[in-house]
Amino acid sequence: MSGGASNGLSNSVAASREAFAAWVDEAPDGRTFGQVLVRSASPAGYYLCHEDDARAKSLELHDDPQVAREIAKLTGTGEYRPLKSSPNLRRGWELRVKDARGLATAMNYLYPAGVVHWYLHREGKLEITDYRENAARQSGIYKRVQRLSDEGVRNAARACCEEAVCLKKILWNVDAETPLEMDRGNGEIPCPEPCSVFVSFARRVRLFEREEKRESQGVAGISPSEREDLAALVEAAADGTEGIKFAREAEFEEPLNERRLRYRKLTLLPKLLPDE
Ligand code: SF4
Repeated sequence: MSGGASNGLSNSVAASREAFAAWVDEAPDGRTFGQVLVRSASPAGYYLCHEDDARAKSLELHDDPQVAREIAKLTGTGEYRPLKSSPNLRRGWELRVKDARGLATAMNYLYPAGVVHWYLHREGKLEITDYRENAARQSGIYKRVQRLSDEGVRNAARACCEEAVCLKKILWNVDAETPLEMDRGNGEIPCPEPCSVFVSFARRVRLFEREEKRESQGVAGISPSEREDLAALVEAAADGTEGIKFAREAEFEEPLNERRLRYRKLTLLPKLLPDE
């Protein structure tokens, strides 16, 4: 990075830190950013907690912003969180930081780059990278995402990026002429470019598209991987006395992955129930 570019970045980081703290200061009840409620403390500093713990008693208390790294790492049931903007932040903690710098450090662990993107978007300076441009840079096993159809990109985004599974507000499109056509979310954290979890999901969706073209389809035009998913669902529902156990968040090769099932809802249900 050139000296000028790195100065520009550190200026944005410093300006975003101050703007974010001021934005919190001017809200008497605090602000919600992702799933984190941030409130000004008196006489100085900030309190952070999970938004659902606003009135909770007996939270575990911390005063080191670095602790946010550990808080962000695992879900409440101890699973690794590959996507920090998933709505699965664990509850039960409160973090007190002493100033705007501590606040920015903590937020950066909870939502990496979230504050600086929030700031640049407000200023109209956030650069957006559409899907095709991002895909053109992929190599190795991810190169195949370049062949994903426009409809495949749209369905992948609906399955992977809507508010139920990611709290960022999606700003990118398939390309400049091809919008995503989906509910982009209302969150404060902008998403300016497909993330690595999305690219990995797009790769899986491309495999599904290839399979659709290649295989001779069975009843109702159902592909082998669709059959595999249906069988896994029936089996899990029949066995599951405690409900269906989903695969890990980024294990898209597994039939019971939540995003994969959301994709099936968009593409398989219309085949099974064409009149609905
Ligand atoms: S690409 Fe989708 S899943 Fe990834 S951060 Fe953006 S909105 Fe969320």
